[in-house]
Amino acid sequence: MFGNGADVIAPFDKDGTISEMRSAVQRFAEEQILPIDGPTSEAGEFPASIWRKMGELGLLGVTAPSAYGGLDMGYLAHLVITEEISRCSGSIGLSYIAHSNLCVNQITLNGTEAQKAEFLPKLTSGEFVGALAISEANAGSDVMSMRTKGEKVGGGYLLSGTKLWITNGRSANVIVVYAKTDMENKKITAFLVTTDSEGFAVGQKIHKIGLRASETYELLLDKVFVPDAHILGQIDAGAEVLMSGLNFERLILAGGALGLARAAFEESLNYTHDRHQFARPINSNQAIAFDLAQMAADLDRERSFAYVAASLVDAHGHSGKSLNRLCAEVFLTAAQTADRISSRAVELHGGNGYTTEYRVGRIWNDAKLYMIGGGTSDIRKLVIARELGLRLGR
Ligand SMILES: Cc1cc2nc3c(=O)[nH]c(=O)nc-3n(C[C@H](O)[C@H](O)[C@H](O)COP(=O)(O)OP(=O)(O)OC[C@H]3O[C@@H](n4cnc5c(N)ncnc54)[C@H](O)[C@@H]3O)c2cc1C
Repeated sequence: MFGNGADVIAPFDKDGTISEMRSAVQRFAEEQILPIDGPTSEAGEFPASIWRKMGELGLLGVTAPSAYGGLDMGYLAHLVITEEISRCSGSIGLSYIAHSNLCVNQITLNGTEAQKAEFLPKLTSGEFVGALAISEANAGSDVMSMRTKGEKVGGGYLLSGTKLWITNGRSANVIVVYAKTDMENKKITAFLVTTDSEGFAVGQKIHKIGLRASETYELLLDKVFVPDAHILGQIDAGAEVLMSGLNFERLILAGGALGLARAAFEESLNYTHDRHQFARPINSNQAIAFDLAQMAADLDRERSFAYVAASLVDAHGHSGKSLNRLCAEVFLTAAQTADRISSRAVELHGGNGYTTEYRVGRIWNDAKLYMIGGGTSDIRKLVIARELGLRLGR
């Protein structure tokens, strides 16, 4: 095992900046995030107070320009930070991804200078919480079948419809909302919606089996006026805006899964050392030692793979087609690894693993999301299969 990951990352971090950043975030996460993960998950409450602290450290705008309060760093740095936060709280990790990647990074990539100046400083400081809303009750994997529509009126658009599953939905101040603006030709547009707009309302809370301190809400849009100045990218070109961020999104979501996989492994390492049965530590049984060895190997492989991909993304500087397969593969296998390791971790804790007293049960439930959210594992395989040139039936 490569300890805290410094060795795995060394080939991609020549001047040590990212390792330094990792150590600082790890310290912060262990001191400030880990202690609140249990209580906030149990209460099902988003820990809003942590947002400002993360803003002060610069974590909320890793890829945003420094002129707007960001760190101006790349996706490898963002991945590592996401991994460290998620290692200490899956919930805060997911909310962090929705804010820093799905919202801040999309504005960074596609926003006008005026939009960046209006929203990024508040989002990077933690004054604002960001989110992204594309999914609907009947438009999940098939997002282009969305029903939310944007109707042209003088000076802007009126958005109407219902979004579902929106992370940070209740606390968000600004949300990247996708809506159909050309029903006939099935064209969508991305809009920057401020949640104090008339007609915007937060709907039902989604009660989840994991990531319970990350808010997931339904959003109701009833003729919400969005000025032309808040169109993100071009009108009817929302698909391009969406695609511009997809590879980055998959990569950063993989960081969430990897953080949870590490947490499950570390909990297992400690527990199997301390727990005695038959008058010896249970990790002195070869079956258990081999499971731990397999977990370590899987983790090092997945993290190395993710760091290679993030470094390539940083080097290419765009979300080109060549990266589609790589980023889908990274997310697919990182999520599978987190699912597998956290499931075995529960078993290695015996009956205690199945209680709320121990952290592994929560990690297991938290990790499951990464097989589903951000495009399911099947959809990731679909992307990979298409990149392999396979023609799939309809
Ligand atoms: C906790 C959480 C947070 C979320 N946060 C957000 C957010 O912030 N913003 C947002 O917009 N959305 C968010 N989502 C929505 C998420 O992206 C969707 O749940 C996901 O894309 C799957 O869509 P679905 O739930 O409608 O499942 P469905 O699309 O109905 O899929 C059901 C099953 O069918 C399979 N399937 C579907 N189509 C195919 C196919 N063509 N080939 C093979 N298998 C297929 C899927 O893999 C899955 O196993 C969140 C979801 C959750 C659970």
